[in-house]
Amino acid sequence: MAKIIVIGGGPAGAMAAIAAAGQGCEVHLYEKNEKIGKKLYITGKGRCNVTNNCSPEEFLQAVCVNRKFLYSAGYGFTSQDVMDFFEKAGLRLKTERGNRVFPVSDHSSDVIAALNRSMRERGVAVHLDCEVKEILTEEGVQEKTDSGVQELSGASAKKSDSEVQDSDGNSVKKSDSGVQDSDGNSVKKPDSGIQELSGASAKKSDPGVQSSSGTSAKSRKKKDQSGSSRVMGVRLASGEIVCADAVIVATGGISYRTTGSTGDGYRFAQETGHHVTELSPSLVPLEIREDYPKKLQGLSLKNVEVTICDGNRELYSGFGEMMFTHFGVTGPLILTASTVIQKKLREHPLAMKINLKPALDEQQLDARFLREFDAAKNKQIKNVLGNLYPAKLVPVMLERCEIEPDKAVNHIAKAERQKLLEMTRDFPLTVTALRDYNEAVVTRGGVSVKEIQPQTMESRLVRGLYFAGEVLDLDAVTGGYNLQIAWATGYASGMGAAGKLIGDRDKKA
Ligand SMILES: Cc1cc2nc3c(=O)[nH]c(=O)nc-3n(C[C@H](O)[C@H](O)[C@H](O)COP(=O)(O)OP(=O)(O)OC[C@H]3O[C@@H](n4cnc5c(N)ncnc54)[C@H](O)[C@@H]3O)c2cc1C
Repeated sequence: MAKIIVIGGGPAGAMAAIAAAGQGCEVHLYEKNEKIGKKLYITGKGRCNVTNNCSPEEFLQAVCVNRKFLYSAGYGFTSQDVMDFFEKAGLRLKTERGNRVFPVSDHSSDVIAALNRSMRERGVAVHLDCEVKEILTEEGVQEKTDSGVQELSGASAKKSDSEVQDSDGNSVKKSDSGVQDSDGNSVKKPDSGIQELSGASAKKSDPGVQSSSGTSAKSRKKKDQSGSSRVMGVRLASGEIVCADAVIVATGGISYRTTGSTGDGYRFAQETGHHVTELSPSLVPLEIREDYPKKLQGLSLKNVEVTICDGNRELYSGFGEMMFTHFGVTGPLILTASTVIQKKLREHPLAMKINLKPALDEQQLDARFLREFDAAKNKQIKNVLGNLYPAKLVPVMLERCEIEPDKAVNHIAKAERQKLLEMTRDFPLTVTALRDYNEAVVTRGGVSVKEIQPQTMESRLVRGLYFAGEVLDLDAVTGGYNLQIAWATGYASGMGAAGKLIGDRDKKA
């Protein structure tokens, strides 16, 4: 039976394992943490914004880099497919504002449980606390040597292969006839699975299967002779070598490292001859030069407009919610801005303006001030502005406009009112830097997609080696789109690896 190793138990790895096992392959998923989905657990503030309920075109529009590369995978496993998958796996979903999809329970742990259930049902052997250290390849393998690979695979039935854990951490024994659970019951009937694949391979949404079966043995041989290599398996942290016919790398990026995403996949890619594009934190808070954010720490502003400019050139403008922190600013608007401004920000600081009342034009805003001032002529200005701004903002506005807080409203000069008006429409700040990876929702950059087949996620350089999820040079804005990248590329890689291996097996038979 075709054997596939998946490295990483995040959303991309779990989906890759589920797709490949669903096609009848023997799938082993290695996760270095004690459980799968540690990052998934903290997504959407613990609620997990699973995907965005939108068309594939809209999904692709939300992708920041290498949008074209994702075309095939994006249409091959759409957000509707993701929702159908989870509903079938027993997870009820709901769609909220901005088409964001969440579990009805509002618990990300339920998403992880659904993935665990699906892996268990398909017989995926999940090896927890098991770190992969190296990917093993064989240079310039000829078609003939395929039998050698099989011998090695056979030899891999070592201790760790014969006793692994299922996705819930239960001991599972492996036998020649497939994977068995700890009671000796067969978890999967591999042969029947393979038959299902040949039927399923005609499916429109199986881009990998279609593509790989379209690759002729002749063209592969030519590739081999031209010096490309093929994957042989992996070496674990324990030193043990596990052989496989295909390896899928789904190790994530380098943001929130404590979740296990420590960039191992970038090293694997480089060690096997791939390029990794420049990495940077993305969907990340911004540092501000002025000390006002510190004074406003914790204040959240809704329905504001944020504009960031490089000189006269507008780099970003958006409407929504933001928050002040001890170092600067964060919140949905700011995270989205970070995806757009980061390149320029690396060159020099950028000017940011907040329009606190974007629904009012200049005249309407002035009329509003006059109305408030007329109604409270003898009151101190500091007590009147509370009707216009959140309380925490009032002293900062007065300080920035150089107006004495105790001044009576009927003593406020026209120029002072004008200053307040300008400050309300253009509250200026200077953006100096992005925060680091520990606070970044995603990592920008990754394995160069130029070296990856877009239909199957297979490397163009190493046969049988696949990449999926955040480890690739792909990222999107917030709204469930980054997880959609993980599901779609995970699915494409699982189907691609399974389809190719079963195609190869059928050719040999
Ligand atoms: C705070 C936060 C909130 C987020 N919220 C959302 C959201 O609501 N919606 C959304 O769409 N996106 C969200 N994201 C982004 C989303 O979580 C990621 O894009 C997604 O998890 C990437 O999936 P992945 O499977 O590629 O990688 P990861 O989720 O990073 O998984 C990689 C896995 O590989 C394992 N691993 C790494 N190296 C090895 C090795 N050598 N051997 C074995 N295992 C290894 C890691 O332990 C990890 O479990 C959020 C991110 C963060 C940080």
